[in-house]
Amino acid sequence: MQKFKPSNSTLLLNIIFNYHFFLAMINEIFPHKIKIELSKKGQIEDQDYILIFKDNSLLLKRDKEGCLDFPQKKDFSDKDLPSKYTYLFNIDNTACFYMWNFTKLESNEFFYKDIQEFRYLSPQHIAWTGIVAFQLIKWYLGNVYCGTCGSENEEKNDERALVCKNCKTIQYPKISPAIIVAIKNEDKILLARNSNIPEGRHSILAGYIDVGETIEETIIREVKEEVGLEVKNLKYYKSQPWPFSGSLMIGFFVEVFGDATIKIDNKEIEHADWYSRGTLPNHSASLSIAGEMIELFESGEW
Ligand SMILES: [Zn+2]
Repeated sequence: MQKFKPSNSTLLLNIIFNYHFFLAMINEIFPHKIKIELSKKGQIEDQDYILIFKDNSLLLKRDKEGCLDFPQKKDFSDKDLPSKYTYLFNIDNTACFYMWNFTKLESNEFFYKDIQEFRYLSPQHIAWTGIVAFQLIKWYLGNVYCGTCGSENEEKNDERALVCKNCKTIQYPKISPAIIVAIKNEDKILLARNSNIPEGRHSILAGYIDVGETIEETIIREVKEEVGLEVKNLKYYKSQPWPFSGSLMIGFFVEVFGDATIKIDNKEIEHADWYSRGTLPNHSASLSIAGEMIELFESGEW
């Protein structure tokens, strides 16, 4: 009798399934994709998403099946919509537009959701679409006027940028690169409590890259400053955009070099220690790169 042999498509589905259940960071929305390039301009069409922003919240709707989605143009009558809108990006084949100076009252169907809650929303591609839109909308709202001469900015047609109508200074969206670093000492990982993260939670170390610094120099400086350690064998893992703070997190696995005695800075870091597998304290969830890197240690893959 012929044995069951999975087809290529079954294998692919298994890979996708496993990938998503065990290693899905919040930005990993495959097979969905955000196409950030300025591919669509002009009129909004009926099926396009319209993003309405109020007090760090975005308007969502619940469809007939109870699933969360963004409002579409067809949900509004043309006379209600504002005249000023900005193309943000496409999610798959659907264009997303930000509507300026426009709010809509909540109803059974439509409600505002704080952007911080989007990290736990389902479906994940809608959550991530909102989070990326949040960073772009905040950038547009914060750059209505030129920082050099104070005149009004306008959208550049050929790239994602704003240009001053008067002095022609160009502004690009601001992204702040930051390192995120997991440190290992033989079979233990360093986890720290930073005063900026939720009460009781530990994570790996992170810090912004300074002007004139390489990524490697940032890692060495931050680790020394925060926990007083030297590190070696810097290995790049992956990166994760983090639009809540406009950051790009660049993940590295490293090993301690020399004396492994931790000396915390007592400013940002309240507590840090070495932890063995199976004894990790409450830590970042795997929707963030920090959580995923901690899970790779815990599972023995790193
Ligand atoms: Zn100007």
